[in-house]
Amino acid sequence: MAILFDDFNSWREYCASEHKPLYLPVLEYEIAQKGRSEPEIWEGLARAYRVMCEAVETGLTEDMTSRSGMVRNGGKKVYQSPITVLSPEFKRLVSRAIAAKEVNSCMGRIVAAPTAGASGILPGILCTLQEIHQLTDRHVLEGMLVAAGIALIIERNASISGAVGGCQAETGTAAAMGSGAIVYCLGGSVDQAFNAVAITIQCMLGLVCDPVAGLVEVPCIVRNASASAIAYSSAQIALASVDAVIPVDECVAALGEVGQSMETRYKETALGGLAATPTGQAIANRVLIHDIEMLPDE
Ligand code: SF4
Repeated sequence: MAILFDDFNSWREYCASEHKPLYLPVLEYEIAQKGRSEPEIWEGLARAYRVMCEAVETGLTEDMTSRSGMVRNGGKKVYQSPITVLSPEFKRLVSRAIAAKEVNSCMGRIVAAPTAGASGILPGILCTLQEIHQLTDRHVLEGMLVAAGIALIIERNASISGAVGGCQAETGTAAAMGSGAIVYCLGGSVDQAFNAVAITIQCMLGLVCDPVAGLVEVPCIVRNASASAIAYSSAQIALASVDAVIPVDECVAALGEVGQSMETRYKETALGGLAATPTGQAIANRVLIHDIEMLPDE
């Protein structure tokens, strides 16, 4: 019988007692829940990964300018920048996460993993991971199943939506999915993978959702980049077996508790934070006037 785990602890115990790799119960759950065969699930995953990679490519090669004017080919600019602050791989990670998210802001095709607002994070992480470590597609797809399992548990016990739990829930969950997938793909243990999730949540905790003009552009796009970087730093820490101290399920509970106590103005209403700054308000007014001017005369 396919199981959707209530928490990370039961996922860990199930894999240990059944001697199953981390991705397998998620695969079984997908087969049962969607009523599809195993080859169909793998094909669906491969299609999703292709769309992620295409979004990265599109964002790095085509014109990414949004109607609001806030998106102006940021991914390409980072990719082509002559200055490398850390390493070429890091620059590619950041530019890819931005590029894929810009495709979403410009109404292109993306995979909402787990949401459209966070849709640059997994593409940036997975494409870069595969490139650096020469992973097979199958290995990356297994990592995507691990990532999906992480999101399912966070959704069940906290939230994956900015409107419910703030940006910590949205980009935070995507980063946690990414860090767990990185550790899995690099051969880390189950404890290390879940420790990476815990560390990622600790790093993302408290982040509010405050999109300027209610558009998922600023600060969303740069947060996709920073969340990708946090996923990598968390995986690096976890793979060295540095303990997160607070167990992963307690971190998820904290995510839910912080999300619940967050004021409404910090939950995608564009009433607080960066959206409420003078510049944010001016942009919102300009976008509103622009939209009214575009309405047909009646
Ligand atoms: S700020 Fe809000 S809309 Fe933007 S990515 Fe974060 S949760 Fe999504």
